[in-house]
Amino acid sequence: MKKDCIFCKIAKRELKSDILYEDDKVVAFKDINPQAPVHILVIPKEHISKISDINETNKEIISDLIVVANKIADDLKVKESGYRLVLNCGSNAGQEVFHIHLHLLGGRRFSWPPG
Ligand code: 5GP
Ligand code: ZN
Repeated sequence: MKKDCIFCKIAKRELKSDILYEDDKVVAFKDINPQAPVHILVIPKEHISKISDINETNKEIISDLIVVANKIADDLKVKESGYRLVLNCGSNAGQEVFHIHLHLLGGRRFSWPPG
């Protein structure tokens, strides 16, 4: 837990959020500023700042995040229509919160290439 990290606080329920899923390693909650009808953030409970901090020792958390995102996509009925999973890393990618989070976006069509 990093003291000043808002996503660590959400994971510890010290900061209010709309939590959809929790297990021993992962928490998922609604994005406060949704960019699509479905916009969920899936995070590790462990504080890891950026996706570039993933290495051989902690790589399994990424598959845990994807498995949870897939389950939520199914629960929220966007599995068939399709959805986008996004990991922003660093300033050029627009990362604003420096605790790894997987965006699950669905319920509308997304353009490619991204803006
Ligand atoms: P990033 O740009 O870092 O990939 O995405 C950060 C995301 O976190 C944004 O989509 C933003 O709306 C969301 N967010 C920021 N602060 C909060 C918060 O306090 N609660 C929730 N639920 N989402 C937040
Ligand atoms: Zn954190």
